[in-house]
Amino acid sequence: MASLLYFLCTFLTFSSYFREISAVNYVVKNEAGLQHTGGTKFENIIGGIPYTIQIMGQINNFIWSTVLQENTPEDRKVLENDSVFVYIKDFIGGEAVTWGSNRINVSAVYLRDYNEPMDLKWEFTSLLYHEMTHVFQWNGEGKCPQTVVEGVADYTILKANFFPPGFKPSGAGKQRDQGYDYTARSFEYCDTLTPNFVAKFNKMIRKTYDVSFFKTITGKPVEQLWKDYKAKYPGVNYSRLN
Ligand SMILES: [Zn+2]
Repeated sequence: MASLLYFLCTFLTFSSYFREISAVNYVVKNEAGLQHTGGTKFENIIGGIPYTIQIMGQINNFIWSTVLQENTPEDRKVLENDSVFVYIKDFIGGEAVTWGSNRINVSAVYLRDYNEPMDLKWEFTSLLYHEMTHVFQWNGEGKCPQTVVEGVADYTILKANFFPPGFKPSGAGKQRDQGYDYTARSFEYCDTLTPNFVAKFNKMIRKTYDVSFFKTITGKPVEQLWKDYKAKYPGVNYSRLN
């Protein structure tokens, strides 16, 4: 009996390990290098390539299992070279950016100059939760508004509990498609009407996008949704939060 149990445990451990490494490869390059203070901080404070590869695996699994609930290979995007690439690069104009289908640039300048309010390793991890969502999410083959795409990426950091102190509270925002944390909070409200709203929404926008998808999933037209959402948080003065 004990040996059967041992066999099962070994088999399960091996098979889950194999599945994880065979599904996606994580490739990390510190192109800024050690002559750049941001590149040095990446190595010494964040934990460099080993930490990044480890956290990419965790984030990948979190996005597939919890946020997008893409539980079979058919649900998922086919990644170029079955890989996600992260480059630490010397560029100005943003914290990080996802480009191509599966490449993420993190600014060494941002890492160099970042000094609050969370520690740098936390901030880097939060950035990867956001950017890796862009790698795995659907966007209606480009037809989904960018504000909504960014809302899904910020919904990931909200669900992962990696949202920064400045993240907007529930009820903030002037309009329903304001993007980023504003939209992420409104998706959280949609979850209360239809559990796993974002996962369902993401599946619907695989090939196209239509604003009627909100009604299909929640039963309420999008303008009504926004009205009800705002009414639920009457104390939030959005003019001061923008
Ligand atoms: Zn983004």
